[in-house]
Amino acid sequence: MRSVSIFGATGSVGISALELIAHEPDRWSVDVLTANSSAGDLAAQAKACGARLAVVADEGAYGDLQAALAGTDIECAAGTAALEEAARRPVDVTLAAIVGAAGLMPTLRAVERGGIIAIANKEALVCAGPLVTAAARDSGAKLLPVDSEHNAIFQVFDFETPESVSRIILTASGGPFRTKSLDEMRAMTPAQAVAHPVWSMGAKISVDSATLMNKGLEMIEAARLFPVRADQIDVIVHPQSIVHSFVEYVDGSVLAQLGSPDMKTPIAYAMAYPKRIKTPVAPLDLIAAARLEFEEPDPVRFPALRLAREAMVADGTAPVSLNAANEVAVAAFLEDRLAFLDIAAAVDHVMARMSTCAVATLGDIFACDAEARRIAKDFVSARGR
Ligand code: NAD
Ligand code: MG
Repeated sequence: MRSVSIFGATGSVGISALELIAHEPDRWSVDVLTANSSAGDLAAQAKACGARLAVVADEGAYGDLQAALAGTDIECAAGTAALEEAARRPVDVTLAAIVGAAGLMPTLRAVERGGIIAIANKEALVCAGPLVTAAARDSGAKLLPVDSEHNAIFQVFDFETPESVSRIILTASGGPFRTKSLDEMRAMTPAQAVAHPVWSMGAKISVDSATLMNKGLEMIEAARLFPVRADQIDVIVHPQSIVHSFVEYVDGSVLAQLGSPDMKTPIAYAMAYPKRIKTPVAPLDLIAAARLEFEEPDPVRFPALRLAREAMVADGTAPVSLNAANEVAVAAFLEDRLAFLDIAAAVDHVMARMSTCAVATLGDIFACDAEARRIAKDFVSARGR
């Protein structure tokens, strides 16, 4: 039996993980579940899986959580300090599935404590990759990528002889606007942006997928997780999302991991590592899929990819600025305060105004994050509608 804590339990990744746990309840004992503010959903999940502690980040939701858990022996807590405290509790596996830089501190605390960290929270790696990987070296924590592309690469990457790898190629579905013209993209609404053709995901990552910023963040995530240089990381559009990524070797061999586009497969791989467990995922039907297509990403319609590459190459605080600007712009777009194409424009605007420094401490990251958010909010107000 493995003990597991899920940070971001009420989200898309968290819910998939709890489905896996419910599928084989004897394999898992759940310690902590967390959410931002949805106390009712969190309490229901905690009761269903027999969690020991439920934590909401938003202190305003504490009363609701207490009320919803009254009469049970499930402890509850609220606030960001409680979230960090919960991340320090010893468990075999922590699933880091909070969205955004908000997940950084709980993810880092879990890494400092050790064990298996199944990491979905890519923004934590983008912002604080070197600190997270250094903490993992110190504690002996094993960082296992949940992001399907990185999970695929992890499965086929030869870590014994990394010099035999010439390139890693991340596949991108292309998102809901893959075939839309620039003119059509101008008028796209939040509802259209979150209607992903293949993957069902949270709102923020769905918008990132529509701008291809998700793939940009994933290039940086790959640079954090794998011993390759920035110029060895490529992106290819693959609308069927069946090949989850490729690793190309110097001898011409290209290895890939394939599967139905369902996050339960990479989540199960990371949570049960090094075992493989059964999942309720539909087996891959290649005959039904019939065609696997690949195309070049369009740099004109999807400038986010270039912005992310520049941030990856600049490194230091540049990925922090990129991520912060993107989080502000995506939130504004989802609230109908910013046009779709202005998301990348906001990031471009912020990147042009932020200087890049080395990252030595968390303080460097938080200072850069705050400044980039301030500039992005000014941009949104100026463009605002
Ligand atoms: P989601 O929006 O569905 O869920 C996010 C979770 O984080 C929720 O439990 C929410 O309550 C919590 N949360 C949000 N803001 C918070 C805050 N300020 N403080 C504490 N908790 C907060 O997101 P998701 O789609 O499940 O994605 C989670 C992470 O996994 C993201 O980093 C995303 O990029 C990554 N990821 C998701 C998928 C997917 O299929 N959904 C695939 C690959 C990677
Ligand atoms: Mg992904």
